[in-house]
Amino acid sequence: MILPNLDSRENTVAEIDLAAFRYNVKQIQSLLNRHCILLAVIKTNAYGHGIKEIAHEAVKAGVERLGVTTVEEGILLRESGITIPIHLLSPINQYDALNVVTHELIASVSSKNVTKAIHDAAMKQEKIATVHLKLDTGLHRFGIEPKKALDFCAASYFLSNLYWEGIYTHFSNADEGDWVTTEKQNRLFEKTVELLEGEGYLFPLKHVGASTIAIERVDMCWKMVRPGIALFGYQPDERQKKLIDLKPVLTLKTKIVQLHHLPSHTKIGYGGTYVTKQDEKIAIIPVGHGDGYKRGLSNKGYVLVRGRFAKIVGTISLDQTFINVTNVPNVQEDDEVILIGTQGKHTISARDIAKWTHSNIDEVLASIMQRIKRKYI
Ligand SMILES: *Cc1c(COP(=O)(O)O)cnc(C)c1O
Repeated sequence: MILPNLDSRENTVAEIDLAAFRYNVKQIQSLLNRHCILLAVIKTNAYGHGIKEIAHEAVKAGVERLGVTTVEEGILLRESGITIPIHLLSPINQYDALNVVTHELIASVSSKNVTKAIHDAAMKQEKIATVHLKLDTGLHRFGIEPKKALDFCAASYFLSNLYWEGIYTHFSNADEGDWVTTEKQNRLFEKTVELLEGEGYLFPLKHVGASTIAIERVDMCWKMVRPGIALFGYQPDERQKKLIDLKPVLTLKTKIVQLHHLPSHTKIGYGGTYVTKQDEKIAIIPVGHGDGYKRGLSNKGYVLVRGRFAKIVGTISLDQTFINVTNVPNVQEDDEVILIGTQGKHTISARDIAKWTHSNIDEVLASIMQRIKRKYI
């Protein structure tokens, strides 16, 4: 007797193809000139791929630096044995200063208070803390306004226990291919740096670009680039597909846990938002919006079963989703279902899901919840 699989969660996995990740790193490296440093952005749990495993793979692939969001992510990497420079790309607060210094994380700063707190923590520990100044050239997210940069440097640059290794900015419209805005922001960055360096505030490492700049604009790569999404196999925009070949790293798969044969005019799921049009085969898969498989896919998205597209029908619930498998020959319970990835001749990419839900690739990937097991191959 075959016992049923009691833990239906085991049916669902996110497979992470580390060879594909290494391939993407090599592809990006091949575009950069020899002196350009590659900082791999692995923030937000490596865009859902698992930060520890990806960090170690990145180091093996020759990545020179890593970028994360939070101090916690930085500490996690240090404790897992990562020794290369780790940049914090989001602002920290003054209470994080102690951990930043202890774990030798490179903070991005744009506030005098936080900068002073890092300096004080470094002084206590008799260390020199490396920091990068973040300039806001138009994204208006975090960073110092160029016109306040001189005043900031006058107050903070010569604090004894800081090393101002770098200065950087982050563009607002590069992924859209808006080069007028992007070049304007790049020039503002350049002018501000010139002004500061003219006053003796030096920043050896200047950087502005993420994936799009690394792929399309070597001329704006400065001394370092910070690609994120491209490392996971996605060009930020489809126009870039002809410029670089990348392999998606993540495959999301599950299994059919139940198969219904339902007569015509049967309402399905919460609210009965789908009604069968004929005798239909409706399968249940154990994935829902509680896994990050967004409710917006209800009656919109597709999955792959036995190499064919099967439409999502009814409203996606926290833990389960219905798919219409009427046109899938020989479909059975336990059949593999691909939510993101390739099966037979067809592929469903995170970009497809983003289109169906008016989202973007980052959101689709980073939303895949921790409770889905990552399997590294
Ligand atoms: C997220 C982020 C990146 C990486 O962006 P991608 O478009 O994923 O390559 C680079 N730099 C900063 C500051 C970021 O916040």
